[in-house]
Amino acid sequence: MEKNKKDNLEQEYNEIINNCSKLDEEIKHMEEYKIIKKYFLLKGKRGALDLKEEELYKKILLNRYANCRHILVESDTEANYDYEGRWYHYFGCIKCGFDEAVANRGYGRNREEREMLNIMEKHHVYGLSGIKTGICCDLYEARELYDELHENNPDLDDETMAELFKAAIKGKKLINKIN
Ligand SMILES: [Zn+2]
Repeated sequence: MEKNKKDNLEQEYNEIINNCSKLDEEIKHMEEYKIIKKYFLLKGKRGALDLKEEELYKKILLNRYANCRHILVESDTEANYDYEGRWYHYFGCIKCGFDEAVANRGYGRNREEREMLNIMEKHHVYGLSGIKTGICCDLYEARELYDELHENNPDLDDETMAELFKAAIKGKKLINKIN
């Protein structure tokens, strides 16, 4: 490297180091102000709460999925062939929202789906079991319908709810067969 170029680089580097020291001094000085101290204290508290919130959110979702007696519909948008070449639909639960198709996509479209994907990978969830309705439809719309039905009939058991759901979704014609 030419000597001039090397000198220029070193000069620029030294200037940056000098500026860093000056800024460090100023920051240190600022931190002595009460209001600034309070700012950092609040930021710290907020960060700690964020961590707790994240932890609880994960626990709540895991609990919801693990303790649900799933009522399952098949995805109308995503299907694949299984290892024996059979046409395979992804199941989703209209009660808790657990959706196998998320694993097929390999990414989550929102926070809940991203956590769902983590749970599937961490807990090796392959294939949901539960009450199969045999209905192929959009899971999101099916969940909305189920929530509405459940709100109006909070005391029905899962089997009856599944039958009610089947009758209601057929009436609403939300069913789509993809094969
Ligand atoms: Zn479920």
